[in-house]
Amino acid sequence: MHILIRSGGLAETMSRYLIRRIEESPKITLHPFTEIDGLEGEGRLDRVRWRNNQTGTIEVKGIHHVFLMTGASPNTGWLDGCLALDEKGFIKTGPELLPEDLRTGQWPLSRSPYLLETSLPGVFAVGDARANNVKRVASAVGEGSISIHLVHRVLAE
Ligand SMILES: Cc1cc2nc3c(=O)[nH]c(=O)nc-3n(C[C@H](O)[C@H](O)[C@H](O)COP(=O)(O)OP(=O)(O)OC[C@H]3O[C@@H](n4cnc5c(N)ncnc54)[C@H](O)[C@@H]3O)c2cc1C
Repeated sequence: MHILIRSGGLAETMSRYLIRRIEESPKITLHPFTEIDGLEGEGRLDRVRWRNNQTGTIEVKGIHHVFLMTGASPNTGWLDGCLALDEKGFIKTGPELLPEDLRTGQWPLSRSPYLLETSLPGVFAVGDARANNVKRVASAVGEGSISIHLVHRVLAE
């Protein structure tokens, strides 16, 4: 198995314990400063061509499967203009909301937004779509259960 890394290494984006497992595996070859240059095949993937951006070296390997892990962008375009989003499109909640977000969103209440509450009162955001989320299943589920508790608080107001 080959892992192509466009930057110099995995450290910026991956936990140390995972990097160690990858480095210790004799089945995995890491290729820093490398990106895919071409995918070739007749009706299916047969070969992958990649380029080392430091040396300019091109390699072609007989490979039938490619798994892309190039980052995530939240599917929140439809919320633009409705809820405050950060510069990457993640939904701002609670302490992430700046005074100008609340002014722009015309926050109508005297209280500040609750934890996980968006710039629209009574609307909550949890999980990976939320700004500064933890990117873990357990935290997404936990935030969901916290937000239900807060929904009840809003309904009681
Ligand atoms: C490769 C990979 C490995 C991971 N490994 C781990 C791990 O080992 N442990 C861990 O804890 N976490 C892991 N995570 C992170 C974890 O998957 C996420 O943090 C978690 O799934 C977030 O849950 P969520 O409900 O917020 O989002 P998601 O699980 O992404 O669910 C969002 C859902 O909303 C749907 N959707 C999107 N837009 C719309 C729309 N407009 N209308 C209706 N539906 C829509 C999507 O199709 C999706 O089903 C991993 C993530 C990836 C990508």
